[in-house]
Amino acid sequence: MPTSDRDARSSLVWFRRDLRVRDNPALLAALEEGTTTALFVVDPALWAGSGPARRAWLAANVLALAERIPLTIHHGDPREVVPRVAAGRRVHVAAETTPYGRRRDEAVGREVELVATGSPYAVGPGLVRNGSGGPYQVFSAFARAWREHGWPEPAPTPRSPAIEPGQSDPRALGLLEDAVAGAPFDLPPAGEDAAWRRWRAFRDAGLHDYDVARDRPHHDGTSRLSPYLHLGVLHPRSLLAEVAHTSTYATELAWREFYADVLWHAPGSAWADLRPALAGMRYDDPEDAVEAWRTGTTGYPVVDAGMRQLLHTGWMHNRVRMITASFLTKDLHVWWPVGARHFLDLLIDGDVASNNHGWQWVAGTGTDASPYFRVFNPVTQGLKFDPDGDYVRRWVPELAHLPGRVAHEPWRSDVGHEHDYPVRIVDHAEERREALERYQAARR
Ligand SMILES: Cc1cc2nc3c(=O)[nH]c(=O)nc-3n(C[C@H](O)[C@H](O)[C@H](O)COP(=O)(O)OP(=O)(O)OC[C@H]3O[C@@H](n4cnc5c(N)ncnc54)[C@H](O)[C@@H]3O)c2cc1C
Repeated sequence: MPTSDRDARSSLVWFRRDLRVRDNPALLAALEEGTTTALFVVDPALWAGSGPARRAWLAANVLALAERIPLTIHHGDPREVVPRVAAGRRVHVAAETTPYGRRRDEAVGREVELVATGSPYAVGPGLVRNGSGGPYQVFSAFARAWREHGWPEPAPTPRSPAIEPGQSDPRALGLLEDAVAGAPFDLPPAGEDAAWRRWRAFRDAGLHDYDVARDRPHHDGTSRLSPYLHLGVLHPRSLLAEVAHTSTYATELAWREFYADVLWHAPGSAWADLRPALAGMRYDDPEDAVEAWRTGTTGYPVVDAGMRQLLHTGWMHNRVRMITASFLTKDLHVWWPVGARHFLDLLIDGDVASNNHGWQWVAGTGTDASPYFRVFNPVTQGLKFDPDGDYVRRWVPELAHLPGRVAHEPWRSDVGHEHDYPVRIVDHAEERREALERYQAARR
């Protein structure tokens, strides 16, 4: 409760996955109360569980926000830090919808008055319901209802937000600065202005042929906004205001909303099969093969190109995410959380809802799952979506000497392995048969 007249007119806004000033309803709600303190807390539980690229990306965007507004930065368990900094003031947030975020906010909410305005989604998870009030199980039905539900216009940008500078914890600042300095590779430019520049460049030059270009991993045909959307440097509502709601781009954003909705209703699906139909499935634990998958040395060019793109940039093209996930689950017969964990360690857009349900879609255990008998063929997929072999040559230098399509089938060339490109670790046709047998047995 407010402790003085001054406190009665001031509040706290706690930034989490909403590192922006534009289109930020929680910030506006805090400012409506008068002066506010803007807080970011480096949470050791999340920090320790992130790899260096993810930490650097988060840190760079927090520091970019701190250049725009006076941001008070602390380190520690938010359950302890937020009540201390709030000192009796009301705390404004955008609702968090992941299992960890919900638990944390419930705990913080027992100590302070927590006011949630908006969420990282155009339509908050849990709000799109079917005729009987339950969640949608299938994406196409969800997307239709999501469009019908609609979303508000972007919130106005505060002109000169009345934010009080606070005392940051030097240790927290040091962690952030060290993380940026320790980035394992060049990250995309951080911050809201960079995110908007990227969006405008894509909107003006890429959106018109997105339907086709988005499936070409070598082509820069997608928006590359996922790392910004993940941290809320940009809100999807701002993008939806600039595209047709029936466009393919809006549909892709709907996938993000769908998976957040699935996780909202079934928090346990973060790390376990959403559908129990394959509970009896037999999985392997082939350590060497999983290591070859992680390091991009499976002998299947498009799989290796994707895994190396991930290692060297913290991002992977969507088509190749599906191919590499299929390879781990169906060619190596590994349970999907093993791969989901690896992706989450490395992806700078790593998002538990989109990632883990993307994995389950491929593995056949999720909502709206691809039929279990659909096994991606890494060679035909490569030839179809990277017909000239450019993507493979870009990421696998051992294949750079192979012209055109040959890069996808080095074993067909006399010189295909002359630069030590590994031989295939498994025979796809055999493993496909094996996967189908296991799926059929599990379903019985
Ligand atoms: C196994 C697997 C793991 C994935 N892990 C993640 C993840 O951790 N984080 C993540 O943001 N996306 C994930 N995706 C979805 C998708 O691959 C990425 O969102 C996309 O590649 C990001 O690139 P982009 O911003 O250029 O996408 P665009 O094609 O420009 O799409 C625009 C936005 O729509 C959303 N989107 C597009 N496709 C999907 C999808 N299939 N599922 C959910 N949202 C989507 C993203 O927010 C994306 O930024 C995963 C997909 C698979 C198959």
